[in-house]
Amino acid sequence: MDCLFCRIVEGSVPALKIMENDKFIAFLDINPRTEGHCLIIPKKHVSSFSDMSNEQTGDMFVFVKEVASRLAESLEAKGYNIFINNGKAAGQIISHFHVHIMPRYESEGIVIEAAFPVSEDAKQKLKETQQKLEEQPANKYTKEIISW
Ligand SMILES: [Zn+2]
Repeated sequence: MDCLFCRIVEGSVPALKIMENDKFIAFLDINPRTEGHCLIIPKKHVSSFSDMSNEQTGDMFVFVKEVASRLAESLEAKGYNIFINNGKAAGQIISHFHVHIMPRYESEGIVIEAAFPVSEDAKQKLKETQQKLEEQPANKYTKEIISW
């Protein structure tokens, strides 16, 4: 399989790496939305967030926190966004799972707004979703979320 991010891991495609450990790499996005916009990828190819093991997910988010904190500090950002586009429908272009970190500064005017309408129809859909989730066998993590 020809995967751009696997080629970055191998070193056959150059990337501006900013942090790396034995499992993950952080590098600058080639089409940055803000100064310091970077991507974090697992070195081992995984297409979807759902295919990540719990251990891998935990390790990755510890790494994401480390990168985000150091990036924001060194660039004197006032905050940052962390987001994931999972699946084509959500805008995932490279099918190698990745997390975006976008350092944020003052006066950019980029706002990510909640667009889900709080209508009676929406409330009904939320209830149906909750029921479907309750019917599924849950692990200890999802149980905590549902009862929360
Ligand atoms: Zn890959």
